[in-house]
Amino acid sequence: MTSAAGSNRSSRIAGFHKLSPRDRLDLVAGFAGLDEAQVAHLANMGNLDPMLADKLIENVIGTMNIPVGVATNMKIDGEDVLVPMATEESSVVAAVCNAAKQVYETGFFTSVSGNLMIAQVQAVDVADPAGARIRILEKRDEIKAACDACDPVLVSLGGGFRDLEVRLLDTPSGTMVVTHLIVDTRDAMGANAVNTMAEKLAPSIAAWSGGRVYLRILSNLADRRLARARAVWKAADIGGEAVRDGIVSAYEFAAADPYRAATHNKGIMNGISAVVLATGNDTRAVEAGAHAYAARSGRYSSLTTYEVDKDGNLSASIELPLAVGLIGGATKVHPTARACLAILGVTTAERLARIIAAVGLAQNFSALKALATTGIQKGHMALHAQNIAMMAGAVGEEIDRVARLLVERASVRMDVAQKVLEEVRGN
Ligand code: NAD
Repeated sequence: MTSAAGSNRSSRIAGFHKLSPRDRLDLVAGFAGLDEAQVAHLANMGNLDPMLADKLIENVIGTMNIPVGVATNMKIDGEDVLVPMATEESSVVAAVCNAAKQVYETGFFTSVSGNLMIAQVQAVDVADPAGARIRILEKRDEIKAACDACDPVLVSLGGGFRDLEVRLLDTPSGTMVVTHLIVDTRDAMGANAVNTMAEKLAPSIAAWSGGRVYLRILSNLADRRLARARAVWKAADIGGEAVRDGIVSAYEFAAADPYRAATHNKGIMNGISAVVLATGNDTRAVEAGAHAYAARSGRYSSLTTYEVDKDGNLSASIELPLAVGLIGGATKVHPTARACLAILGVTTAERLARIIAAVGLAQNFSALKALATTGIQKGHMALHAQNIAMMAGAVGEEIDRVARLLVERASVRMDVAQKVLEEVRGN
């Protein structure tokens, strides 16, 4: 079955999914012509049991280790918290630590709007959409009973069906009747929970609407599950009024311009996705929700706001959907996620969402402060220089020496790093 790299290679491999991770790896190695070191590297699954990895996704051949750093200085609702963050990007963890340090005295204050998720059921070819909407709304009690019957565990924990909405959408192929099932999913992200309910109700909705039902799935625009955080950085603690005003101006730029807002919000997600990943939650679900929420007015804008308060200090806030859980997906089964949740000491999904919102705000504050003052490259480059040094071949103590020299020479470039490494080795 194995073929040498470059000759008669076919990606159609019958029964690939039935092989063990090691057998799949050998096959892939033959296909791609991997050397022994590469195969040995991929075969080392680190701290994730190969059997578990093989259960989490399909066609597993290895794992991808991403560093987990810990953000310090975070005080959230009066409680000190150490926040694990999984990211491959340098400066992200440091940015959160720095922002939190400058507001440690008062810290961050957070809240959530609830744990409500939305599942959508799409009905098409409905002759009387307005009438169908009313007929479905009349069935609220029946719908609640059917949803709750799908998940007795959730109901026993105080969750389950909460509300019903029916929206009419004008589309090129006619008016669609879209039913929203609004469900409290407690400490679960809730995708599977609400998808099951939507599928269960689909035949009834088809009958009540007189149309045909197609899609039955959650919305990642979880705007009934908003997390919020706020903090006030004292002008004197952040370098004075000029820095404060620079940050406000940077925010106003993002609020007014989607080109800037995309980068502004990317920085926020540097922090948020890192905690979401470290806790085994679904980064794509959170990112989709965040960006959709940022565009809710019809124009993509900032997820944070910055104002000068009556005392002349910088009042900052963030609000975004945060569908994260402590149960379901990888959160309960991935040992690293479990350990990270233990570091956070969270016992509810709400608390996790609140901490994540605070991290997003901290991240954003640091980025705006750097951009409004020295620019991000100064802080970024010191850490980036280490990556460049490693790419140039530096190992062990050489990494720091080469990185320091690159920064001193204000030339963090691969070609320079190679020359510097030769110098260091020549000494
Ligand atoms: P899940 O179905 O694995 O677990 C949730 C279930 O656990 C609940 O339905 C409930 O029966 C039970 N439960 C036990 N204790 C609970 C508690 N304290 N609070 C709430 N429920 C409790 O997980 P899920 O959260 O429904 O689904 C999350 C997974 O779905 C993620 O892996 C995500 O990647 C995936 N997913 C996402 C999308 C999307 O975002 N578009 C689509 C499909 C699947």
